[in-house]
Amino acid sequence: MDDAICGICGVLGEVYLGDGNEKNCCSRKEILYSKNDAVDSSHPLSLEDLLERIKHHWVERTTFTRSSEPFSVNAFCLPPIIPPELRGETVVNTEFEKKTLSVNKGKNSVEGDPALLHIQIRDFNVDMQSLEKLSLQELRNLCEQCDIPVTSNKSQQCLRGNLQQLYATLLLGNCPCHGFTQVPGKTDGFYHLVCRHGVTVASKFLTLQESVRDAADLYLSLKYPPPIFICDTPCGFVRHLDCRDKIIASKLWGNNSGCFEVPSMEKLPEEGVNVPDIVPAEFRPVSVDVEVEGTADKWVHPITGSSRRYILGDRFHSTTNPHKSALCNFHDINLCLQANALKTSYQEAENNRKNKKRLQSACVQGFGTHFLYNFLMDFYQNEIIIHKQLLNLKKGLPEGFQVKRDRYRRFVYEAIQQ
Ligand SMILES: [Zn+2]
Ligand SMILES: [Zn+2]
Repeated sequence: MDDAICGICGVLGEVYLGDGNEKNCCSRKEILYSKNDAVDSSHPLSLEDLLERIKHHWVERTTFTRSSEPFSVNAFCLPPIIPPELRGETVVNTEFEKKTLSVNKGKNSVEGDPALLHIQIRDFNVDMQSLEKLSLQELRNLCEQCDIPVTSNKSQQCLRGNLQQLYATLLLGNCPCHGFTQVPGKTDGFYHLVCRHGVTVASKFLTLQESVRDAADLYLSLKYPPPIFICDTPCGFVRHLDCRDKIIASKLWGNNSGCFEVPSMEKLPEEGVNVPDIVPAEFRPVSVDVEVEGTADKWVHPITGSSRRYILGDRFHSTTNPHKSALCNFHDINLCLQANALKTSYQEAENNRKNKKRLQSACVQGFGTHFLYNFLMDFYQNEIIIHKQLLNLKKGLPEGFQVKRDRYRRFVYEAIQQ
């Protein structure tokens, strides 16, 4: 799998784009939705083991007339598809949390604005674990801050319940700016991270409905989360991570929510912000030295030399399906002077998405077939792109040089030793 890592990004991709594809789903047979004690969100099954099990089952089925036991996997311990070199120390799949966090589904059942509750937690240190300590008046104030209707007949318990429900939508990863859809009775397809060159970097198989939690799972499972992550729900992604892991989130963006500045309801986002770090290395006037590995903490990205991350919205979604809160505008990539350097990425990502749709497999497949089919499909698609990169590089190859991968798996010219 490591051979199909993008030769330009290597393991240090600077810009990744996230997109879910709920249409690429399969039937739920072969998937168990019960949680046993062995399931641990920070230790899903290893990808290699899972592929081995699927293969074993196939060989058994084709060799013998019947197999010893029907194939099944637990929905909550499925590994994300990430090549070994790109994987971080811990790979996470928190799919199960989606199930345990219950949010009343019916219409208008969750009152209030999660964006406002997020501000309270982030800037005013509201501790959701100790709501019991708040007086009725304090609870009322907090509810008002979060746009939860406060009527005089609402009890303390009721107000706490409203706040907890609103908080659950943040943890669950629901985002009011983007409706997530699911084909009834099926799995919810895949969530993919793609680099600017169209290579699929990481994928997560969704057993339950998509949420920003999926993007966050993949993001946190990478060895080097990219300095710039572009998705259709940057607002929900940041809010979710701020609540899910405050310590990591504060390292990645402090209190500016992955934007270029601290988002605020009181002002409009500043335009023309200068952020040289977002220009991809190949477009920079001077080449960038890569920080030596092991010198800094694991959140520092070797190319930018900083742990600062940006979470930005894609243009397509922003114009056709506007966001719900004024705060969302702060995630707009066009606010930055260097936005043009990232222009081509959109088209490539779009193309990539279309390709995936074209190749989508039927909904009647069981999990095993579906998972392996998609794994191979993405792998071969990546291989084609990398083959083209190599051909291009070899065209300009100076005499006495060859193309090699460096320690970060990026293609470089290297003198042939005589
Ligand atoms: Zn790439
Ligand atoms: Zn939004």
